[in-house]
Order: sequence, then structure tokens, then C-alpha cells
Amino acid sequence: MIDSVRTKLTLWYIGVLAVALVVFSLGVYALLSKALNLRLDAALRTTIAAAAASLTHEIDEGETIAQAAHSMVQDLFIPQQALAVFDTEGRLLAERHAHDQSQARLPKLSLIPGDHPLLYTMRNVKSANGIPLRFAVQRIQIAPHGPTYLVAICQSFETVNEQLVALRQVFYVTVPLALLLAGMGGWLLAHKSLAPVVTMSDTASRISAENLDHRLPVANPRDELGRLAITFNDLLARLNAAFAQQRQFMADASHEMRTPLHVVRTAAVVTLEQTHREEEEYRDALVMINEQATRLTQMVEEMFTLARADAGRRPIDQRDFYLDELVAQTARAAAILAASKGITVQLAQTRETLYRGDENLMRQLLLNLLDNAIKYTPDGGRINLKLDRKDNTHIITVDDTGTGIPEEAQAHIFERFYRGDKARKRAAFNGHGSGAGLGLSIARWVAQAHGGNINLERSASSGSTFVVRLPSN
Ligand code: ADP
Repeated sequence: MIDSVRTKLTLWYIGVLAVALVVFSLGVYALLSKALNLRLDAALRTTIAAAAASLTHEIDEGETIAQAAHSMVQDLFIPQQALAVFDTEGRLLAERHAHDQSQARLPKLSLIPGDHPLLYTMRNVKSANGIPLRFAVQRIQIAPHGPTYLVAICQSFETVNEQLVALRQVFYVTVPLALLLAGMGGWLLAHKSLAPVVTMSDTASRISAENLDHRLPVANPRDELGRLAITFNDLLARLNAAFAQQRQFMADASHEMRTPLHVVRTAAVVTLEQTHREEEEYRDALVMINEQATRLTQMVEEMFTLARADAGRRPIDQRDFYLDELVAQTARAAAILAASKGITVQLAQTRETLYRGDENLMRQLLLNLLDNAIKYTPDGGRINLKLDRKDNTHIITVDDTGTGIPEEAQAHIFERFYRGDKARKRAAFNGHGSGAGLGLSIARWVAQAHGGNINLERSASSGSTFVVRLPSN
């Protein structure tokens, strides 16, 4: 239960709100308590001032102090307050009890200041119903040099307490009620806002490799959960594409391997059909089997390279080497192959170019391009190879006078196992002279693994131009 995000959210919500409400209530309570106490003191001060005025007035009218005190305590009738008049020795001259029977008392005489009232609370003196009392006492001089009397008043904290009790009761009811309502609201809100997560996790748990095309529902693409669902869906789309590519790769690979294996089996079966054959015939069969085996080996190696590249397990062996030397070497190797078809390979003058990268992969890239150029260029043609540098990019151009690539095929030549029609026919016809359609895929991967790229820049009936761009490092 406590592990549910919804419960945790609600508990946090209630906890934070409870702290806020308690702090708020305590603040209000303290302020009100202070204000009520000040009001009580102000009432006591007002009564003392009124008592002083009344005493002075009565004496001015010619009454004795005893009569004046007596009529003053009767006149100033405030039920909650007890009133008393003393002489300076502390002898009681007149008094009136409050309605709760509390009586005005004097503190130690030495504590009473000369001119302003003294307000104090005595802990041990309480009203009849056990409520603490607040006292005020002041010396009152009747005339500038006349006698001094002491007027004392007291009032219990009853009204203050009553109002504070009422406020506490309001808080006791409203704070838990507010927390209950907020808790229920928070729970519903958490339930509502987390509902898409529950739906998403249900949908996600039903997705496996077989139905990767399923997608999570996106309620609101702009909120956090919507963005999470979109991100998850993107991930599914990428996984789906990767799985599809993998499946396609397997299907293509087995398809490509079927032909050479079929040729090998047929050659063997046909040759073995007769018990005795001429040596020439055995030789021919073995040559054919050897060619197909070579093709299969090359295919398997290329597939292995791509599979390791996909799995991220083909490390790029970064070393410094001279790119111009590598281009020259591969041009020489290609020239030997090309010579049998009467094709010339021309290498333009190159500058010394130090490069950091994987020399073996880069050699494979160049050989794949040159191999294609030789394969798809008719006898007597020409292949031009060039290494340039523009800004911070090394540019390798392989240009041939071949048959060109049909427009509709140009977009696909870098795809795995893609082979143009002519290449396919030739492979089907004699089983060699064409790869499995992986050469350009590998070339592009090598270029990209080095931060560069490879593009077909031109292809027409007069030939094709492939350009490799590699950032210099
Ligand atoms: P392949 O093993 O068939 O050569 P690639 O991936 O190297 O596979 O090339 C894919 C296809 O691109 C080839 O089948 C061919 O149709 C076309 N192609 C590649 N290079 C050339 C070129 N220089 N001239 C004409 N067509 C080419």
C-alpha cells in the first residue's frame, strides 16, 4: 500500500498541508491571544482613568473621601470588574465585587509606581470558578498637593479564555476536516493523474518482440506523462525498426546463400551421377565449387563485419597512417585486377595526408568502391581515383566509365543485400563477379564510423562517381 505512488503522493500532500495548517492556526491563535490580552489591559486602564476622574470630581464637589470612594464604586458599574479604593497605607475605603465574587487586591505597596497604572497577574489568585485574574492599580492624587489614594481593579481572564476556547474548537473541527477533504481530493487527483501511467504499464506489459508495432496511448502530448509515452513509443519504433532490419537481414542472408549452395550441390550431384568422368570435367566442377565457396566466404565475412558493427563490437582501431599511401596502395591492387579487363586505373597526384583512423577498415572501403568500379565498368574503360582536401575534410573520389546506376536503384544501393538488376543477373548466370550487395553498406558504415559519409555524386550512362568525405582529425 505504502509502495504505491498514489498513496505516497497523498500522504505527502496531507503532511505538507497539515504542517501549513498547524503553523497557520498557531499563528492566528497567538495573535488573537495577544490582542485579547491587550484589550483586557486597555479596559482596565480605561476603568482606572474613569475611577480617578470620578473620585476627583466627587471630592471637588465637597464630599469626603469615604463618601466619594463609595459613590464612585457604585457609579462605575462594570459587572466583570471588581473595584476598590485604598488609602496610602493600604486600608480599604470602599469596594465592590465583580459578578464572579472576585475582589480587587493590592500588591506590595512599594511595587506601585508613582504616576502610571501597574498591571499584573497573580498566579495563585483565581476567581471563584478557578480562572486567573488580571489586576490594575494606580496612585491617584486628588489635587496637585492633595492626598493620594490607591484605586485597584481586577477582572478575570474569562472572556479572553472563552474566545480562545471558541477559536480552538473551530480549529479542532476545521483543520481535520480540511485535511480529510484535501486528502480525498489529493487521492482522487493522484488517481486521475496516474491513471495514464497504469494504462501505459498495462499496455507495455503486453508488448513483446512479436507485437512491437503496438504503441502506448498518449492522452496529452504536452504534459510530462504524454512526453514519457511519446519517448517510449519512439523507443518502440526504433526497436521495431531494428528487429525488422534484423529479420530482413536473416531472410536476405539465407536467400543469398541459397544460390551458391545450390550451385555447389548441383555441381557435385551432376558430376557424381556418372561413375567415371574425364579429369577435365572433375576439374571444371571443382573450379565452380571453389568459386562458389569463395563467394560464400566473402559473403560470410562481410556479414560478420556488419553484424559486429551492429552489435557495436567492431572496435575502431584508431591509428595514425598516411591516407595518400593507402589510396595509392589500393589503386595499385585495383590496377592488377582491372588489367584483366583492359581497364586503366588512374590516380591523381596526391599530397601527403596524415590521418587517424582504422587503416584496415579504410582499405576495405576503398577496395569495395574500386571493386564495384571494376565490376560495373565494361572492358577497356577507365577508373579515376583522387584524394583532395577541402577545409577540414578529406575527399576521396572514385570515378568510373561504367554502365551507371538506374535512377530508381540509386536510392537503394547503400541498403544491405541490395543489388542492381545487372549484378543480380550476372550472379545468377555464372555465380561470380558480383558480391552479395553488402559492399556499399560496409563502405558507408566505415565512413560513418569515422565521422564522415559516402555518397553517389553522379551516375549516368557515361559512368558513376562515388565521393567519400572524412573529417580531418
Ligand atoms: P554488390 O555486391 O552487388 O556490388 P554493393 O553494395 O557493392 O553490392 O553495390 C550495390 C549495387 O549498387 C550493385 O549491385 C550495383 O547495382 C550498384 N553499383 C555499385 N557500384 C556501382 C558502380 N560503380 N557502377 C554501377 N553500379 C554500381
